[in-house]
Amino acid sequence: MATAAAQERCVFCEIVAGRLPASFVYTDDDVVAFLDIRPLTSGHLLVIPRQHADRLETLDPGPGAQVFTVAQQLAVRLRRSGFCAGTNLFLADGVLAGQEVFHVHLHVIPRTQRDGFGLRARRRGQPDRAKLDATADLIRERLGRPPPDDQLSPHPPAEPPGGGGAPSR
Ligand code: AMP
Ligand code: ZN
Repeated sequence: MATAAAQERCVFCEIVAGRLPASFVYTDDDVVAFLDIRPLTSGHLLVIPRQHADRLETLDPGPGAQVFTVAQQLAVRLRRSGFCAGTNLFLADGVLAGQEVFHVHLHVIPRTQRDGFGLRARRRGQPDRAKLDATADLIRERLGRPPPDDQLSPHPPAEPPGGGGAPSR
């Protein structure tokens, strides 16, 4: 939890408190959504929790879930209304990820033909299954997770338990 002094300087807390202007499209008890001041496309929105949380790590799960729910609803309704043809959701967590405002926010970026928006990234080849499995092992280890059960195993047994036969439903 950030100190009151830190929240004092948080631009998004200032918006939530009404001390800085914003063009709101949605508000509820946990979450507000308003237009980004430097939009990447027309209608570029930010969905934020009212409660200050600098990063995902300090965001309570309740408001966190509501941020996604609201972004999902906004994206669906904007597309259904014909405002856009699709949407990108984007969240930067940490300086290295490009986070500039340290109050968690989910970008809702409406997409239309030739809107000039695009993500520039280079894919890291196509690792073989052994390499992907090794990465999954490493991540599970870091998460402190046990190996998956048989059903989720990346390499299920060749013979189904019971010796085969038609799968039952
Ligand atoms: P990020 O890089 O994910 O931290 O993005 C921060 C976003 O906040 C940028 O897209 C900014 O344009 C936007 N932003 C910064 N200040 C304001 C503000 N006062 N009102 C609306 N959007 C803002
Ligand atoms: Zn804040």
